[in-house]
Order: sequence, then structure tokens, then C-alpha cells
Amino acid sequence: MFSQIKGQDKAIEILKRAIRHDKIANSYLFFGPEGVGKFTTALYFGMALNCHATLDKRPCGECVSCKKFLSFSHPDLIFVFPFPKESNKPDVSIEGEIKVEKILSEYKDYIDNKKSSPWKEFFFYKNVGIRIASIRMLEHRIQLSPNEGIYKICIIENAEEMTLAAANAFLKTLEEPPSDTVIILTTSKVNSLLPTIISRCQQIPFYPVSRSIIEKKLEENKFLENIEAKMYARIANGNMEKALRLVEEGRIESREQTVELLRIMINQDDIKFLDFVGRHRTSKTKNQLIEIISHLIIWICDVSYFKNYPSEIINLDKTDILETLYRKNPNVEDYVSELTNFLEEMLRKLDGHVNQQLILTEIYNRLLKTFFPE
Ligand SMILES: [Zn+2]
Repeated sequence: MFSQIKGQDKAIEILKRAIRHDKIANSYLFFGPEGVGKFTTALYFGMALNCHATLDKRPCGECVSCKKFLSFSHPDLIFVFPFPKESNKPDVSIEGEIKVEKILSEYKDYIDNKKSSPWKEFFFYKNVGIRIASIRMLEHRIQLSPNEGIYKICIIENAEEMTLAAANAFLKTLEEPPSDTVIILTTSKVNSLLPTIISRCQQIPFYPVSRSIIEKKLEENKFLENIEAKMYARIANGNMEKALRLVEEGRIESREQTVELLRIMINQDDIKFLDFVGRHRTSKTKNQLIEIISHLIIWICDVSYFKNYPSEIINLDKTDILETLYRKNPNVEDYVSELTNFLEEMLRKLDGHVNQQLILTEIYNRLLKTFFPE
């Protein structure tokens, strides 16, 4: 099943070797960018350590133990992740029971999402953290013998979200975990962890997934044409989960709107531009605007590839637009990094709740200035 994880061959090889030679560390730190398979690898590693199949087939995904892991119901899987807090009382009992109903239902929803479509983003209704009560629960549970497995597997997802108190309590756990326990921390912000936590774990780096691997994975979804796969892979920028999310949410629409915006710009049709702004100024359309700007970044790169690197072009079906823009400014190559920096800055501004109308206008004027210099 490890082969299902794409683009992390190094990490998988280290873990497989550990399994083969039965040299399992007490604690691991999986670190690297978001959406590249850290959690899935942690889950599969835990599965492999408890799998009933022959050594070379672990994790098989089919034995009783694997199935329980995949449904998050294995009694020896202890899964800790950041979740919201409702009162000043401990949010989870030492046995792992969550008493506040609202939190419990969010907790279950999170796990359901993880089971059915882990690439989807899950938004809790308020700020989250890993608090000391969760660490006490973990500490209590690892002191018990495994219920049915060989190893107790603790996965602490987004470990950087531990409060200071939780992190200090956890350090003690890390000092001497029972030998039948494997603790796996995952994080995309390794610098936010206490150095003393980092140094006590075997560190396993994860990397952005290459564009070609993402393309291939997306093309396996048969409905996806090569050009779309290329486009999503470029936008996802190494984040496999994001790529899958984009496909599922069908971002073709925002691409069409980007084309519309470019045509408006080429024709310098200010009235149509005002209409365009009118359709993209509410918070409901914010995500769409974010997508449009991401598409624009690709378009700008495409224009710069037009003459010398045609094989790099993503928007192959709309070369008429590329050609028009290229003819307007054949020196576009000189402006690419400046323009993409500018568009990325606009993305950050959107994140900071700057007025969408202003941002769109600023982008429009900047594009006009680039492609229609006086
Ligand atoms: Zn198995």
C-alpha cells in the first residue's frame, strides 16, 4: 500500500527498511510541506507495524488489523490532532472521552473527513490547539498494554499546535515511551516545535510532490484531460492534496473567467471590466478571485514561454490569447518575475481582507501597463 503514496520515495524507503530489519524507533517526526502525504504515511506505517500479512506485503490493507486502522477504529491507534476548546475544563478525559457535545461532533466530523476524503480541507468552527489534556490522555493510554496489536501507534498531527504546557508534558512522554509504542509527529511548521522535541525523534523529511507526479496522478482520473492535469499541477505547486481538491471542486469555471478577464484587458473594454468587478466583489466570490489570480500567474508565464519555450506552455488551447499578448509586449520575459511577485502579493492582500474591488482594479491596471505601455 505504500506505493499509493506518490513522490515520497526516500521517506518510504527509510520506513520500509526499518520494518524489514525490525529496527523501529520510538518516535518519528515527519516534516515537510502541506498536502504531500505525511499523515497517510504515518497511518500506513502504523498499519504495517501491526499488519498480519507476510513481511513484504505490509501493510496489506486487507487484514483485520489494517481494516481497523483504515477506519480509525483500531484500539491501539491513538490519534491526536488540534481541535477547538469550549470551556476551561479539560477538553478530553484521561480515557479519551470528550464530554462537550459540540466538540465531540466536530471531532467525529473531522475523522469522517479524514476517512472519506482526506484531501479536503476541514474547518473547525473556532481556533484549535493540542492541549495538555490530550497529552495526558496519550500518556495514560501508552502505559497500558496493546489491546490487540503488537505496537501502540500514536499519531500527533500538526504537532506544532501543541500549547507550551502540552509540549512540556509531551517531552516527558518522549523521554521514555514504552518499547511497544511508536509515536509519530507530523508537522509542516517544524520550526515551531520545541528543539528538544525535534532532537528526540528520528526525523523523516517529506518534499513537495513533483509536477509530473501530480499530473500523472490526476490523469489517472480518466475524466481529466492532459491540459487540465498540467494546469492543476502547476497551481497546486507541489501540494498533492490541493491538486485533488482543485479537480474535485472543478475549477474550470475560474479558468474561463480568467480568459474573460484577459479578453477584456486585450480589448481595453472598461465597461465590461466594471461588470466583471461587480461579479467578483463579494466575500462569496473571494475563493474564485483567488483562483483567477493563480491562473493569471500561469498565463503570464505562458506568455513569456510563447516564443522560446513552447513546450512549457500550459494553456495550449488558447494560444490566440498568448500570441496577442506576446505581440503586445515581446519583452514580457523581463517582467515575469516582477509580475508574478505582484500577483502573489495580491493573493496575500486578499488573505488579509483587503477590498476585492480594489485588488481587481489594481491587477487590471498593472496588466494594462505591462501589455499596453504608452
Ligand atoms: Zn494488513
